[in-house]
Amino acid sequence: MKIAVIGAGHAGVEAAAAAAAAGAEVDLFSNEGVLPYFRPRLIAVACGQSEPDATLMHPAEWYAAKGIRVHLETPVMVFDPETRRVVCKATDAAYAAVVLACGSLPIIPKIDGWADGLPVMVLWTMREALLLRNRITTGARVLVIGGGVLGVETALRAAAAGAKPVVVERLPRLLSANVGETAARLLHEQVAAAGVDIRCNRSVLMFRSEAAGAVTAVLDDGSRVEADVAVCSIGASPNRTLAQAAGIETDRGVLIDAYLQTPWPGVFAAGDVAQLRGCGVRCSAREASLQGKIAGANAAACATQRGLQPYTSPQPMLALKVGAVEVYAAGEAGGGEAHREERLDDGSLCRVCRLLVRRGDAVVGVQMVGSREGFDAACKHWSGQ
Ligand SMILES: Cc1cc2nc3c(=O)[nH]c(=O)nc-3n(C[C@H](O)[C@H](O)[C@H](O)COP(=O)(O)OP(=O)(O)OC[C@H]3O[C@@H](n4cnc5c(N)ncnc54)[C@H](O)[C@@H]3O)c2cc1C
Repeated sequence: MKIAVIGAGHAGVEAAAAAAAAGAEVDLFSNEGVLPYFRPRLIAVACGQSEPDATLMHPAEWYAAKGIRVHLETPVMVFDPETRRVVCKATDAAYAAVVLACGSLPIIPKIDGWADGLPVMVLWTMREALLLRNRITTGARVLVIGGGVLGVETALRAAAAGAKPVVVERLPRLLSANVGETAARLLHEQVAAAGVDIRCNRSVLMFRSEAAGAVTAVLDDGSRVEADVAVCSIGASPNRTLAQAAGIETDRGVLIDAYLQTPWPGVFAAGDVAQLRGCGVRCSAREASLQGKIAGANAAACATQRGLQPYTSPQPMLALKVGAVEVYAAGEAGGGEAHREERLDDGSLCRVCRLLVRRGDAVVGVQMVGSREGFDAACKHWSGQ
């Protein structure tokens, strides 16, 4: 039984391992040039706080021992879902089952003046992390566009590397998708105290090239931020390129059922590229790994006519800790008319806030800054697990 896994990130590697454990011969295709790595650690690599090798999921021998053939620098160009034929430089063959695990692509905003040659980048691959590593150095002026979790982590790590980061966020507060006003206010103070200049309610309108390879960003209030490098971190969207070319149904991502199968028998999707019918898309390493495991096992089961197992989504969760700044959040951010915050701490520690978000009587979110005490218990209570 031969199974192909297209994309070797968190979902792809777990899918390959699960299919191999069920006795399949697995081809794992990656369009990157390095062995699969933990993508969330790229920020530490970019800021010189982790070595690339330390981010690898497994050494080469691990894959060989499991009977997984890893094909690096091998983008799959063509896929036919009816015959499950995969075409790339390594092969042109039909497989018993296929897992699409193509991940997501960073969103690139349209900003005037953003042209080749300007030091304005995204951070999504090891290649980009290594390019940034030469630029996020002591004293470097680093502009981070986007005050979500990746932007905040990038700015905090840049500050820890001795750089001078500025975060420009369009919305009124940092991490607005994850936390409400109370937690965001405390987080803002702590991120600023860590050496990050934060500009909320601001957007970058235009870039201008400066001498010595620097760039000036002109903001919507006319103010300017000069930077040696700018990192754009405003989110990602599922990489639907291959699926759409193959005629597989997509919405925001590749649409899958509870067994992570597309409408094409034997064609599964997992991770950032996938969208469970009736749900939104998610960008989460943890969820990608969990889905990969099930998709790989189901691909093998489907190829041998065994029963498929359903996938249950875990609650989305945020955990960010860099130096003295730590924030944890799960569920709804709150802030709506029907929401109410209930503090779990007595407010006596100025660096700590632990709270529940309630809608009516129901707990719909948990947020903690400066402490994780009681977080897991509160999440269990809320999700009823
Ligand atoms: C800097 C950074 C920090 C992050 N931090 C966190 C975090 O703290 N917590 C968290 O939960 N999530 C985090 N994320 C998001 C997380 O990394 C993703 O949700 C996760 O990587 C998704 O896994 P995946 O396997 O679906 O996709 P990916 O890891 O993106 O892997 C997909 C792979 O498929 C390859 N591919 C695409 N098309 C083809 C093709 N046609 N042929 C062959 N290969 C192909 C891609 O190049 C890529 O290597 C972070 C992401 C980034 C970039």
